[in-house]
Amino acid sequence: SDPFLAVRDLRVHFSTEDGTVKAVDGLSFEVERGRTLGIVGESGSGKSVTNLSILGLHDPRHTTMDGQILLEGKDLLTASERELERLRGNKMSMIFQDALASLSPYHTIGKQISETYRKHTGASKKEARARAVEMLRRVGIPQPDVRVDDYPHQFSGGMRQRAMIAMALVCDPELLIADEPTTALDVTVQAQIMDLLKDLQQETGTAIVFITHDLGVIADIADEVLVMYAGRCVERGTKKDVLNDPQHPYTWGLLGSMPSLDGPVDVPLSPIPGTPPSLLNPPSGCRFHPRCAFAEQVGGGRCATERPPLDLVAGRGAACHLTEAQRVEFSADFTGTR
Ligand code: SF4
Ligand code: MG
Repeated sequence: SDPFLAVRDLRVHFSTEDGTVKAVDGLSFEVERGRTLGIVGESGSGKSVTNLSILGLHDPRHTTMDGQILLEGKDLLTASERELERLRGNKMSMIFQDALASLSPYHTIGKQISETYRKHTGASKKEARARAVEMLRRVGIPQPDVRVDDYPHQFSGGMRQRAMIAMALVCDPELLIADEPTTALDVTVQAQIMDLLKDLQQETGTAIVFITHDLGVIADIADEVLVMYAGRCVERGTKKDVLNDPQHPYTWGLLGSMPSLDGPVDVPLSPIPGTPPSLLNPPSGCRFHPRCAFAEQVGGGRCATERPPLDLVAGRGAACHLTEAQRVEFSADFTGTR
């Protein structure tokens, strides 16, 4: 049967005064119900752009989108604004880093949650308020029947994230898109919110696309992992495959720049030298080649001229010209240093 969500060869290009930004350039993935796909990459890699595309939130006057975004087989790229409006907040919803940007300062938390609920269900005010209280309780807000009448500024940062999650989940969405929802929080609160999301997913079976630059977060929450670089997927696989047996030099770099997941935390960090490229004029061939320490090993200048294909076997693979033998050799070096 069809995957719950299938993105096929997605291209998202923005026209700007300086030219066309190829923000996403041929991206494909699937997410099943009840599963979490972690999309990891540096800022500017196209991860947020991808998710705004799923929700249909780009300005059509400046955006060209190609490919398919199939939700239960229905292509969202050809859906009308009206259909998307019906789906957003209902069948699919989003949480992100800044709860204040999704919560209005002028209305109580309870009113905002219940209005979202009423919009999609036609429930009465009374039913919707009861639903808002129930949602606040589910996300762990103490005294929800009292706090429901608070304004966002009366909540702490962690509580606001919880309230935003309550609002996102009030209509039992089947797809939740989470874009760095814990990045601004301290470690303890971050862990609480991650646990909350995992519990809610257990209860509701919602599919989650979780976007982050933090592999520690991926290790915590993802089932499958997609590593993005400069608008393309460079590596995909199960969490175990990608974190324990990474195949792409960029993933080696990302893993090298985080503390070991189970080892001592005093491993020296080695960030990848250089910065992500401009997507106005992305590098030819492998987009990672200007920063890759292994391009010489491939030889013939191929890395600069030839785009490495992402050949997946059972959802697993990396887009890199290195041979299998080279990957084994170099990744052994890499894991040896961790
Ligand atoms: Fe590095 Fe070449 Fe592989 Fe790209 S294709 S990651 S430049 S070795
Ligand atoms: Mg982002």
